[in-house]
Amino acid sequence: MRFPKNIFQTICKHLLPTACITCQEFQEFCICNRCLSSLKESALCNYQCCYQCGIALHVSELIGQRCVACQINQPYFDETYCLDRYEGMLQTPLHELKYQKRIAFANALGNTWNLVLNEDLKGVSADYLLPVPLSHQKLALRGFNQSWEIMKRIQCGQHIQKSPYIVQRHHYSQQQAGSSLNNRHRAIQGMFYIEPNYIGALQNKTVIVFDDVMTSGATLNEIARVLKDNGASRVINWVLLRAARPI
Ligand SMILES: [Zn+2]
Ligand SMILES: [Zn+2]
Repeated sequence: MRFPKNIFQTICKHLLPTACITCQEFQEFCICNRCLSSLKESALCNYQCCYQCGIALHVSELIGQRCVACQINQPYFDETYCLDRYEGMLQTPLHELKYQKRIAFANALGNTWNLVLNEDLKGVSADYLLPVPLSHQKLALRGFNQSWEIMKRIQCGQHIQKSPYIVQRHHYSQQQAGSSLNNRHRAIQGMFYIEPNYIGALQNKTVIVFDDVMTSGATLNEIARVLKDNGASRVINWVLLRAARPI
């Protein structure tokens, strides 16, 4: 007789109802069928997006499949896959995780990612899947890195190594939020580094970087720069929620 992989979880799933992370209706899974269908229909990943930065394309950009900003100022990362828009139905569940510290939402968001994007991304070939890191100080303050908590639940090829240790972040007191775009770009330079034990391990490797929210792309661009400076040949971003481009 074969036992399910996690018998406790399987029993709980059938005995204990759970609230859908977006409409709060009690049912069997972390997101109800109605919300999942609506997400699958309307999510940003259904739209024609810039292959490099993941932003929804204007009609004039459709031919090249790349936005004007990426054409003018080519980012260091090569591709970006986003699940949905920042303003979409997953914003509240993400805030519950980040700001209310409701860690079960990480499980639900990771599962939602798998349900929506797994088919599209299961063929992606890479060596590492790494979360955008928090500084040690921020990690101590929040208690967890939301990107790592979501990312470790993402199903991907067995050959892709997941690690929260390879990319590290210095702690700067200047807050990113609220500062101008130029200030943010300046503040982010030199913020990330490769953990000394892993220097050399990235040579000619393809690295996927996971972030919960991508806004200007400055953070992911700086991480891609550091990864490529350390030998990575290709950097792909996986992003839960993508902010729309400024009007
Ligand atoms: Zn629902
Ligand atoms: Zn772009």
